[in-house]
Amino acid sequence: MNHPAGQLTAAPTIERRRIRVRGLVQGVGFRPHVYRCARQLGISGSVYNGPEGVVIEAQGCDLDAFTQLLRDNAPPLARIDSLIESPLALADDKGFSIVATKAGAANGAAIPADTAICQACLRELFDPTNRRYLHPFIACCDCGPRFTMTRRLPYDRANTSMSSFSLCTDCEAEYTDPLSRRFHAEPVACHNCGPTLSQNIQPVAEALAAGRIVAIKGLGGYHLACNASDHSAVERLRSGKLRDGKPFAVMVLNTASAAGYVQFDAAGGEALASRERPVVVLPTTGITPALSPALSPGLATLGLMLPYTAIHYLLFHALLDKPAGQRWLEQANELALVMTSANISGDPLLTDNAEAEQQLAGIADLILHHDRDIAARTDDSVLRMTPGANMIIRRARGFTPQAISLAVDGPRVLALGAHLKSTVAMTRGELAYTSQHLGDLDSPAAVAFHRQAVDALLDMLQARPQRLACDWNNDFASTRLAEQLSAELELPLLRVQHHHAHAGAILAEHRYEAAALAIVLDGHGTGNNGDSWGGELLLVNGGEFERLGHFAPLALPGGDRAAREPWRMAAGALQQLGRGEEIAQRFSEQPLASALQQMLATGSTPVTTAAGRLFDTAAGLLGVCSRASFEGEPPMLLEGLARQPRALARGYTLESGILDFSTLLATLADCEDPALGANLLHGTLVDALTEWAVQAARSTGVDTVALCGGCFLNAHLARELPKQLQKQGLRPLLASAMPPNDGAISLGQAWVAQRRSPATID
Ligand SMILES: [Zn+2]
Ligand SMILES: [Zn+2]
Ligand SMILES: [Zn+2]
Repeated sequence: MNHPAGQLTAAPTIERRRIRVRGLVQGVGFRPHVYRCARQLGISGSVYNGPEGVVIEAQGCDLDAFTQLLRDNAPPLARIDSLIESPLALADDKGFSIVATKAGAANGAAIPADTAICQACLRELFDPTNRRYLHPFIACCDCGPRFTMTRRLPYDRANTSMSSFSLCTDCEAEYTDPLSRRFHAEPVACHNCGPTLSQNIQPVAEALAAGRIVAIKGLGGYHLACNASDHSAVERLRSGKLRDGKPFAVMVLNTASAAGYVQFDAAGGEALASRERPVVVLPTTGITPALSPALSPGLATLGLMLPYTAIHYLLFHALLDKPAGQRWLEQANELALVMTSANISGDPLLTDNAEAEQQLAGIADLILHHDRDIAARTDDSVLRMTPGANMIIRRARGFTPQAISLAVDGPRVLALGAHLKSTVAMTRGELAYTSQHLGDLDSPAAVAFHRQAVDALLDMLQARPQRLACDWNNDFASTRLAEQLSAELELPLLRVQHHHAHAGAILAEHRYEAAALAIVLDGHGTGNNGDSWGGELLLVNGGEFERLGHFAPLALPGGDRAAREPWRMAAGALQQLGRGEEIAQRFSEQPLASALQQMLATGSTPVTTAAGRLFDTAAGLLGVCSRASFEGEPPMLLEGLARQPRALARGYTLESGILDFSTLLATLADCEDPALGANLLHGTLVDALTEWAVQAARSTGVDTVALCGGCFLNAHLARELPKQLQKQGLRPLLASAMPPNDGAISLGQAWVAQRRSPATID
């Protein structure tokens, strides 16, 4: 029988489904994306923000093609974690519509992170025919500030610092047009209706060109800027900031320009140009004649970042004599600007116009303000990209408040972090939210910022914690706040040992729930009986841990001062080696050397097992650094010197879990060549740590080793130790989404506290 061809094809069946999309789908232009996909395929229905993501009701012939298109063409900032579909009865829609966010829908949502200006906006910025030509606050659904301008949830314009700028007719039209790139883009603005700068870009550029120091208000705070090639300007900035020799970050226009100053591979280039736009610490090319040597004194690395706001690009445009067209954006040039956080002596970053005027008066020759308030103070993030050892050093702008996804659900824990590089964290469901980098809690302003960050986190998550967590150290401001909150909220407070928390942070981000070994190489952390720990081998079992081994204790003459003055650590080591009589002469340039020699000979000295102090001791013995001008300087200098690490034969002993480096230290004390000494230190450490882990794995049957603590910012350790452990059949876990240093402590505390059995909670 003959059939007409048409009858062979089944008539298209119309169906209707509810599609729940979870992931990073709110505040990233996802609803208009759904709208456009629906229009394209003739699908009817609606889309709205629900409590746990975006909810779509879709009706049409080919819903599989629709969900495929949703995934394939997702907006750049979106991330789809899951897409769950369920059938619905057919309904009578009038086309496809975007339904306004209902109150309370914010409950499962979070605020998106800030994003660097996108390519489309950048093109418009330098297109003389565009109505936003040279507009300093150009932004769209795919780019611009988010976290730093949001006061509260839900993420709607009324709850951001854009609320004081009413949209002009043209912007309003784009804001309400689902087919526009600016549909519900909360930072949308133009010359007619947006925020304004306190002065024109031209005089600011001229001041920079003339060697002046300029403060510039940005997304999360002020920067202090100057020409990075102008040595006297850089030195003046260094003395004006009233601090240390901490390296300054430098901004260059593009990766082509960066290549003139630093070495990077594809991953390094991607990190520089990523939409998070962090400062990326990279090895210098060694041929950087154009830059001031005072940027990162004595270090073999430089922190670079690319422009991330329209204001930055406008400055480069003006400084490069206003090239026409777009090609200059990709071309290499030598222009480099210092862009360092404007904070005074360890206080938090300045964000307020009046405060900036007052506090920066003595440093900045000129201040470029704008009239959009900064709702959440946020520093630049910092990454380190050395081939084979990529890591995040400071997690802030561009990353926060993105959550870390945990392996399992657990009680909601609010964790208060440690003291240095502090952050706070809270878990809700399977997600852990860590605050931006809050800094060291040394000043009342820093302590106040820490408290604000707690409130902001609780506000954002709109959930009450069930447990609190803090460090074992009772002197920390973070611990005191935890105790206060525990009383106020009547919640159990769980104290988590510092290095247990370090290990917890790594296991959290790797979603690793089984027992694991942890090698923690860190600065001081409080151990049993108030001992100072920090070179530890732990066996971690969720909420519990066992100390399997530690570094042999080193003398810590002068306590905290020893941590800042490596010559004191070196003196302590000489005393321990039975060579105390050398101290006064060896460190004769130190006024207290004789007194310290006597004190070490007669009195008792506190001790520490912290690995950070082993580096300090080596730096002091090798004469590389006798006084640190900033935390971490001695190990950074040693790392820069070590080009070919090799182990000293029998440079250490390992007995009953205790690693003793006395032989190595004795050799370093007599070593005339600091580079050789640095090589021996790194090589011997890697060998010793490998044997340490292998022995522990054998005795426990556990083969996974978390490598954590601030010392893993050292590229030799981060690259070589995992290789050696793998050769031995072990499985190393390193920090990647979070920093290995104390910036991850709050996450680790939360993870550990979630896993404590209720019986151990008082
Ligand atoms: Zn854009
Ligand atoms: Zn406008
Ligand atoms: Zn630590």
